[in-house]
Amino acid sequence: MDNELRRIIIVGGGSAGWLTAGVLAAEHNANSNEGIEITLVESPDVSPIGVGEGTWPTMRATLKKIGISETEFLRECDASFKQGTKFRGWVTGEKEDSYSHPFVLPVGYSEINLVTAWQADKTNVSFSDAVSFQGKICDRGLAPKQKATPEFAHVANYAYHLDAGKLVTFLQKHCVEKLGVTHILDHVVAVNSHDNEDIASIETKTNGDIPGDLFIDCTGSAALLLGKHYLVPFVSKKHILFNDTALAVQVPYATEDSPIASQTISTAQTSGWIWDIALPTRRGIGYVYSSAHIKDEQAEVSLRDYIRPALAKQADEIDIRKLSFKPGHRQIFWHKNCVAVGQSAGFIEPLEASALVMVELSAKMISEQLPVNREVMDIVAKRFNDKFLYRWDRIIDFLKLHYVLSKRVDNSYWSDNCRTESIPENLKMLLKLWSYQPPWHQDFTYVDEVFPSASYQYILYGMGFKTTPRATINQSNYNDLAVTYFKSNNDMINKLLMGLPSNRDLINHIKQYGLQKI
Ligand SMILES: Cc1cc2nc3c(=O)[nH]c(=O)nc-3n(C[C@H](O)[C@H](O)[C@H](O)COP(=O)(O)OP(=O)(O)OC[C@H]3O[C@@H](n4cnc5c(N)ncnc54)[C@H](O)[C@@H]3O)c2cc1C
Repeated sequence: MDNELRRIIIVGGGSAGWLTAGVLAAEHNANSNEGIEITLVESPDVSPIGVGEGTWPTMRATLKKIGISETEFLRECDASFKQGTKFRGWVTGEKEDSYSHPFVLPVGYSEINLVTAWQADKTNVSFSDAVSFQGKICDRGLAPKQKATPEFAHVANYAYHLDAGKLVTFLQKHCVEKLGVTHILDHVVAVNSHDNEDIASIETKTNGDIPGDLFIDCTGSAALLLGKHYLVPFVSKKHILFNDTALAVQVPYATEDSPIASQTISTAQTSGWIWDIALPTRRGIGYVYSSAHIKDEQAEVSLRDYIRPALAKQADEIDIRKLSFKPGHRQIFWHKNCVAVGQSAGFIEPLEASALVMVELSAKMISEQLPVNREVMDIVAKRFNDKFLYRWDRIIDFLKLHYVLSKRVDNSYWSDNCRTESIPENLKMLLKLWSYQPPWHQDFTYVDEVFPSASYQYILYGMGFKTTPRATINQSNYNDLAVTYFKSNNDMINKLLMGLPSNRDLINHIKQYGLQKI
């Protein structure tokens, strides 16, 4: 066949590069002569970013597809279980101010929208605790499964907290040794084109020209192929999501047996928020902020204050790493025979861990729609661009929602975030609609939405949003069903609180015995 797509070149060996290589190699038989050839070229002079410790539950399916053992992954990547996020101080900043965004869907979600019944209920149970058991099990530091639950299976839906550096090393070994990916350590210095402006090859410092049919730009913020070579414009979103800087630290536990938190803890600050991610051997903590609203030195003081209870005097000595980023994304992601995945495509603050899930979704779509030849590539490229522009817009709306609903007034950061010109039109429209009807299945219609309507419910009603639905709805059947579901959720909470091991116990068990294979 003319122009058959057989050779894929991935440039960049961070988590985007290796996850994409793994998905493509596993699905297209890179380790056989009949399969596609995959080569990953990464620079020995530019390290991967090395942060990105929170994932989304999609990562389980991705790892499984790549053929990875969950036991090995948990052991090698210093990984633990994440079941959602606890937001502290986001609404008023008062001591008791907190709410949960768990991964489990509200009980009965396909059959009934429980928001109205919950609002009418006067028992003062939070929305997430009324409709989901997961916030309570997270608050107790419990695991999402039993010791006997097989790999990737769950009692409660879960994702991971992991060491980003170890993930890259682990994926690299698996892709090269098991999936037939060729790995070249070399710096790309130039890009050579065909007459039709497709990329013909990349030129490297010591390995010369490396030709290919499809080039995947995973070069992080350098965006070497899509940005520097093709000059596809970068679309800034800083006017919507102001955060552009992070200070990150690694904090040791007091003892080897300290509890491992089962959820990311996100604590609002005067000009941003602090993430707190618990791995088996340490916590990863960082302050993400807007450099226009706070100086680095002040942010550092807040971060050191946050870690002081765990570290005492050592909190003033521990090394802090600063990372700067531009919030936004490329205007398109697939141009000619080049597609960008990971930070080269875009990056927005890690408030809901949306970066790695976008890598997984990109790799999945490239793999499932992999053009057979050059003739059909532009059709796939257009679909890809439309889909991912939609996804970026939804992620931006969803992250902005956390800020728009805040009632904090302690700094202009919070009031600036509520300025109407900083809020996307689509989000304004949805908020207007949701004041009369709670979000549900009609609001987000793709099966693979990054954030389904359930996520919007958890944020809206966790942050005190009020919906006043029309009075004409016949409530009689609905009320009985709602009571039944609230009760079944409460029963489930009691059952799971008694029956699940702690996160630490399960991790220790896995280290020693492993999980049962599926
Ligand atoms: C503060 C912060 C916190 C984050 N937290 C999360 C989180 O909790 N969850 C989440 O999902 N994501 C998070 N992210 C995002 C996540 O870290 C990244 O999006 C993800 O790791 C993807 O990175 P990447 O592979 O695209 O780029 P990188 O890791 O930067 O890799 C770039 C690769 O390109 C190669 N390269 C560059 N130039 C050349 C060249 N000339 N020749 C050859 N190779 C080259 C480099 O060698 C490297 O291998 C966070 C990001 C930041 C900044």
